[in-house]
Amino acid sequence: MIKLPSHGLALLSSRFYRTCHLCHQPSGGGLFEPIGSALVCQECHHALNKPSKVLHADGVPLLVGAFYETPLNHVMSAYKDNENLSALMVLYHLLYHLPRPRGLTKRAVIVPTPTTPDRLAKRGFYPVLTLAKFLSYVWKIPLWQGIQRHENTTHQRGLGRDERLNNVQNDFYLRESLSAHQVVLFDDVVTTGATLSAMAQLLRAKYPNTKLIATCVLHGKQGLHLPEFGR
Ligand SMILES: [Zn+2]
Repeated sequence: MIKLPSHGLALLSSRFYRTCHLCHQPSGGGLFEPIGSALVCQECHHALNKPSKVLHADGVPLLVGAFYETPLNHVMSAYKDNENLSALMVLYHLLYHLPRPRGLTKRAVIVPTPTTPDRLAKRGFYPVLTLAKFLSYVWKIPLWQGIQRHENTTHQRGLGRDERLNNVQNDFYLRESLSAHQVVLFDDVVTTGATLSAMAQLLRAKYPNTKLIATCVLHGKQGLHLPEFGR
């Protein structure tokens, strides 16, 4: 059985309409090109900053799709705040071009940063999960949602770096046991790395031998060195 990614029809129709989801100009190309060249035109693709910068969040290698800069910051907002489908296709484009880490086996799992039922109800959808499902489709690695988030936690947006670090440290808990030996922590946007660090600490405490890497679609600042804390 062929497994289609979330929003598979939008991906499929992009091959027919041939319009760049970023600049909205005709993008050319053929019907049978891979997804990676059907969503964003060549000009936009080359203009976007490139992935594969590997930074470190709390000792965990971090693979970054691109940086949180214009126009991608607007693209991310359009997706998260308005569920804009073209914006999602641009983010899919970035994920598609993320290099799959070497040594990652099919028994690894992708762990999307969890949300809470409150936030889910407020927003109406779970942006990180949709993106994680696409990465799971591209890398052929299953998702694992064994990390959950406590309700009533303060939102990270608008908090300073130190506040963020303190805010998230006890946010997460494990709801089931992990059998994978490799874990890809996944978030949509990483700024200080505090959320990823908190999740990494939770897993390390119970599964010290598990290999952790982290991936995000957009990273807050080019060249920013993420904080080391709690090691
Ligand atoms: Zn374009």
